[in-house]
Amino acid sequence: MPIKPNCDCCQNALEEFGDISLSPPDEEQKVVKLHRCINCYEEVLAQIKTRYAKN
Ligand SMILES: [Zn+2]
Repeated sequence: MPIKPNCDCCQNALEEFGDISLSPPDEEQKVVKLHRCINCYEEVLAQIKTRYAKN
């Protein structure tokens, strides 16, 4: 059975996968995995592109 998590960014049901972020490992080498929906992914991508455009 496929896992259906919620988007960790907007908390909506993750209908379509955008991307996954991994946190830096903590002192126990545990990594937090964050799922983002396609909408939040597009938003992040737009922000990155804007940032690069300024430089
Ligand atoms: Zn989202």
